[in-house]
Amino acid sequence: MVAETINIKNKALLKDQCYINGEWMGANDGSSSEVTNPANSERLGSLPNCGADEAILAITAANKAQKIWAKTDAKERSSVLKNLHHLMLENQMDLATIITLEGGKPISESLGEIAYAASFFEWFSEEAKRVYGDLIPGHQYDRRTLVIKQPIGVVGCITPWNFPSAMLARKIAPAIAVGCSVVAKPAPETPFSATAMAYLSELAGVPKGIFNVVTGDAEKIGSAMTSHKDVKKITFTGSTAVGKHLLKASADSVKKVSLELGGHAPFIVFDDANLEAAVEGAVIAKYRNSGQTCVCANRIYVQSSIYDDFSQRFTEKASELVVGNGLDESTQQGPLISENAIEKVSNHIEDAKNSGAIITTGGNPHSLGGLFFEPTVLTGVSDEMLISKEETFGPVAPIFSFETEQEVIERANNTPYGLAAYFYTTDLAKSWRVSEQLDYGMVGLNTGIISTEMAPFGGVKESGIGREGSKYGVDDYLEIKYVSLAGIED
Ligand code: NAP
Repeated sequence: MVAETINIKNKALLKDQCYINGEWMGANDGSSSEVTNPANSERLGSLPNCGADEAILAITAANKAQKIWAKTDAKERSSVLKNLHHLMLENQMDLATIITLEGGKPISESLGEIAYAASFFEWFSEEAKRVYGDLIPGHQYDRRTLVIKQPIGVVGCITPWNFPSAMLARKIAPAIAVGCSVVAKPAPETPFSATAMAYLSELAGVPKGIFNVVTGDAEKIGSAMTSHKDVKKITFTGSTAVGKHLLKASADSVKKVSLELGGHAPFIVFDDANLEAAVEGAVIAKYRNSGQTCVCANRIYVQSSIYDDFSQRFTEKASELVVGNGLDESTQQGPLISENAIEKVSNHIEDAKNSGAIITTGGNPHSLGGLFFEPTVLTGVSDEMLISKEETFGPVAPIFSFETEQEVIERANNTPYGLAAYFYTTDLAKSWRVSEQLDYGMVGLNTGIISTEMAPFGGVKESGIGREGSKYGVDDYLEIKYVSLAGIED
């Protein structure tokens, strides 16, 4: 049951069941799990606690439906995705309210997330028509080689809570565009964003069985996906630890796997940078979604000659951030997602403090109580501290000092992660040098915001495999086949 207190215009968006083969249904054993609002612990509702049986039901339906969907023409798939794009935007405020209620982020950010999620349906509605093959010159005079791209089949999709709408859209849009079908398992903290998307997909004309949402036990649903012969691909966004587990579990049946995993983004400010722009960019890159994004600046490196100036200006901005319930329009930082998140943030601060770091603002749970935490800034941070090695996933900005370009590149790259990196400089040659030497999948040069549906999102090293969005975003959902045409003689 969904709580009656949820105040949105289009109540039909609130679905408290799974969506399998175009039907709304509960768990086989009737069990369900509660969903609460992190801003005030109020109950929002519950969703079915499904396991392997329901996941297999969805996989079987997805497999059957995909065979038909793969035979539709690109224009048909394109028009369904266009419909979904429009429906997302028509319901933008309601969908954003659901995100804020489930995940806590400020409503302005949730509205931005819905626009971002919708943009993937628009982008891939266009890309659906551009799945080109190749004609390769024959290797013998009477031969030609034809390359075609075909949908991979059923896709198992697992997503996190921090962008419950966008992370799902970034996967299902390219899958549906090229003729695949999807069985999705959303995070238990934020399932209503996924079921709302499933509801809109139905209105948009996505056929039964092409997009299924199964909520419940992650291990059981995940194992059903990774072990089932009809699932040809796993796409996952979440922590590196779970990503590695899914990669290993997919090995037995040699599935194609895409992983969007954790990050530990360096944010480098050179002494020739536009300081004001750098401070602004760093605040955005650090505190968006309360520091709970995979591309959040986790290590801010500032060249020693401007270290004090930068730290002072950054501290001032961070201390001005308005903390509160995300539904309040003035809120700039909402609650964290869970007690575990508060604990991790507190540990990182405690460890840094014990090793000599200075807290220039924040450092404690917020006076609002619950899951609210003060925007925090640490100076005098060194590479031995926990915060310089682990993803914090919270509103803590550690500021490190550096001397030379080569030194900071080495320190920035000294991590198993390789998702996003940022740097600020006005030197053109340095822009090229540093961009090319950073071992990251994405680099923000003089900007703290890098996400767009038009660019390839993804990481290297232990931050992932594959790219989402852009013209490259369909590749992971396609298989390449070549046809060798022989006997072409006079
Ligand atoms: P998580 O703990 O890895 O969970 C992500 C999803 O995986 C959830 O739906 C979770 O369900 C599921 N899951 C957990 N164990 C599983 C298993 N054994 N089998 C199948 N599914 C399983 O990550 P999170 O805490 O939600 O998200 C934060 C992490 O995601 C951060 O590390 C962040 O950097 C990363 N992230 C990366 C990107 C990117 O694009 N690279 C984007 C956003 C977030 P349960 O919760 O039910 O276990």
